[in-house]
Amino acid sequence: LFERLKEGLAKTRQRFADRVGSALFRRKIDDEVYEELEDALLAADIGVATTQFLLERIQKEARKQKLTTADQLMPVLRQLIVDILHAHSCEPSYAQSGPTVVLVVGVNGVGKTTTIGKMANYYRAQGKKVLLAAGDTFRAAAIEQLVIWGQRTGVEVIRQNLGSDAAAVIYDALSAARSRKADILLCDTAGRLQNKAHLMAELEKIYRVIAREIPDAPHEVLLVLDATTGQNAIVQAKLFKEIAKVSGIVLTKLDGTAKGGVIIAINQELQLPVKWIGIGEHKDDLQPFSPDDFARALFP
Ligand code: GDP
Repeated sequence: LFERLKEGLAKTRQRFADRVGSALFRRKIDDEVYEELEDALLAADIGVATTQFLLERIQKEARKQKLTTADQLMPVLRQLIVDILHAHSCEPSYAQSGPTVVLVVGVNGVGKTTTIGKMANYYRAQGKKVLLAAGDTFRAAAIEQLVIWGQRTGVEVIRQNLGSDAAAVIYDALSAARSRKADILLCDTAGRLQNKAHLMAELEKIYRVIAREIPDAPHEVLLVLDATTGQNAIVQAKLFKEIAKVSGIVLTKLDGTAKGGVIIAINQELQLPVKWIGIGEHKDDLQPFSPDDFARALFP
């Protein structure tokens, strides 16, 4: 699993090692070192706010520990990053009894459907009974894709016709999850952020339906973000935090980008845990996020 992660993060690791490594070699610590480190962190998509935060902490720590050469800053940086990733880390949440209801939200194209398919595969492999709800009723392709993932993973998909009420689909799926004694119900939703008010109303209706049927549900509201969009992912996350009760992030497409450092910014700026990461298009290419493994894969 770790080897797959390392492979998936290869581009991010390389950029990080190149840029940060070329700032933090064995030389006397001076202003230039910090300037180069700042450029390196920004180039790794860690974002302005988090880069400033890290620089301040590193300078403070360097004074405290009386460090003299730049290479000594590397373990300090690593520890600060591990601390950020740990501060917000938390495991996926599950229902005490009955089906765990997971709502998956995010803009079209970020990898929502694929993530649901991969999650279905992950839980199936653990021997859990999984059900999918095709709650994105606006796109024929979204419903069809979910059905394909259902076939691929041997999981039933609850769906209605294109254009039907998303909350009605979710209601059907909740009934089916209970009657079939499913362990996990994964619900797809529409991702049309162009019409924010409409999307918010739709999500609120879905929440109401879910909470009426199962009072402590949804147990998880996962926001899917595309790592290749870098700092744009942060902008999307801020928007979704306003319109949905996001409980965690799924960061997809880490395999195709050097912008994986954005995970650090997501933790620090949004105070939201990253719960899953996508590192490819196949059904096995989803992993629960581990702060320690991520740091281990990032640092040379
Ligand atoms: P949705 O519109 O949000 O449901 O997005 P899709 O699930 O249809 O995914 C959009 C595209 O991204 C598809 O071509 C997926 O195969 C691809 N994709 C999704 N997740 C990943 C990932 O982790 N890595 C890579 N390389 N591609 C991904």
